[in-house]
Amino acid sequence: MSKRAEAEELASSVPSVPYVAGTWDTAKAAGTFDVIDPVTERVLATVTEADAADVDLAVSAGHSALDGGEWGRMDGAARGVLLGRLADLLDSRAEDFANLESLEVGKPGIEPRVIDLPQAVQTFRHYAGWADKIEGRTIPTPGYMGRKTLSYTVRRPIGVVAAITPWNSPTMIGSWKIAPALAAGCAVVLKPAEDAPLTSLLLARLIHEAGFPPGAFSVLPGRGATTGNLLIEHPGVDKISFTGSPETGRVVATAAVKGFRPTTLELGGKSPQIVFADADLDAAADGVALGIFANQGQVCAAGSRILVARSVYGEFVDRLVARAEAAVLGDPFDQGTTMGALINAKQLERVARYIRIGRDEGARLVAGGGRPDRSGYFIEPTLFADASNDMTIAREEIFGPVGTIIAFDTDDDAVALANDSDFALAATLWTSDLTRAHSVAQRVQAGAVAVNGWSPLDPRLPWGGSKLSGHGRELGRAGIEANTEEKTVTVVL
Ligand code: ADP
Repeated sequence: MSKRAEAEELASSVPSVPYVAGTWDTAKAAGTFDVIDPVTERVLATVTEADAADVDLAVSAGHSALDGGEWGRMDGAARGVLLGRLADLLDSRAEDFANLESLEVGKPGIEPRVIDLPQAVQTFRHYAGWADKIEGRTIPTPGYMGRKTLSYTVRRPIGVVAAITPWNSPTMIGSWKIAPALAAGCAVVLKPAEDAPLTSLLLARLIHEAGFPPGAFSVLPGRGATTGNLLIEHPGVDKISFTGSPETGRVVATAAVKGFRPTTLELGGKSPQIVFADADLDAAADGVALGIFANQGQVCAAGSRILVARSVYGEFVDRLVARAEAAVLGDPFDQGTTMGALINAKQLERVARYIRIGRDEGARLVAGGGRPDRSGYFIEPTLFADASNDMTIAREEIFGPVGTIIAFDTDDDAVALANDSDFALAATLWTSDLTRAHSVAQRVQAGAVAVNGWSPLDPRLPWGGSKLSGHGRELGRAGIEANTEEKTVTVVL
């Protein structure tokens, strides 16, 4: 059987119903939605949409698990064992997950194999190690009415965490939210994106198999405006962790504010990739191309503003164009494919619209811009040169394989251009000058800066942005802090 046929079979055998309170809710006749293959435009699976009763049940099962339930009684070491088991299970099924993710997202097979799955497995392993190391502090205090005092803090799980994920990297981004929350002892209710919910539904099976008690984890497939909205409005949700567009992020933040609930919001970017004249231009061109074309540019950290020193501008643009022209668009399951399809027709229309705007605004189209003559939501890797930072294609997040190339003169210009953006998520610098690398890294507004590489991911490193890119940090110690609250205890001795 071909890999595609295997993946399609897996897609049709994944549980297509909500996983709530430790069981799959197969009984009720509720609404459904179709998951479409972005490459063939055929239906991969029809999934039951979680309704208000499911949302209610998942949230209350989370509270029951925490308040006196088996999950709440487990100590950190026991939670760590379960997370370790989950990491092992995911590792052993990595090939299935990679195929399923390629199928539902339309990304070339190599990407989930070298990025998403290894990252997700490492994230669960990383937090398996954290679960028994969540510590408080003792704080010296001067005393109370002449008596000595002992003050200390403990970190308590924040409660029931609603995790809302996007469709671009569902397994990896899901792990970024699920693993730290479970390590901290929270209950998690996951609402995966309607365009690509299948890997998350398969993950529920592994979480069940790993032995997490009922209610510790639920998955609610459904559309954003229905299931997602019910979840963010639910008064029983204690924290919302969201990755997606700024528009939806604003809806999530507003709902959270109404209930005084904390949020972690990761809302994408317009990340600069700065190529200095002293950079290794071949290595930089490889990295910059990866930064804008990986996952068809549908990456929150996509390096979509390419700032290039004027003295090497021409030669660098040529190198980048050569990389764009070398891309092989096709079925992610075909040997040799380096670029897949966009997620859906709406996304295709959005990207095509930005390409039209780029032309209309007078940027010079130097690569791509068109669509191959075939089924699927494909668009060519596209580069606009001689652009300026005030053009729409330099200001708005396109979420597609469209790079906007802008020239700069001095380091100060580069920093000013980089920071002249509504977003501040990530940045990459390409230079062989150590002083320049460190000094620009300090000055660029971004949650994460990579020098001579594109956004190296690692679960130990905090991740998140500011401005329209959102707030809060995921991963590393920050992931634990974001899912716990410090409680102070003072004992008058
Ligand atoms: P996109 O437009 O690219 O799908 P979104 O930011 O809308 O990106 O989607 C990210 C996630 O947010 C998805 O899981 C989606 O279902 C969810 N979502 C969309 N709208 C809402 C909403 N009103 N309330 C809660 N979740 C939502």
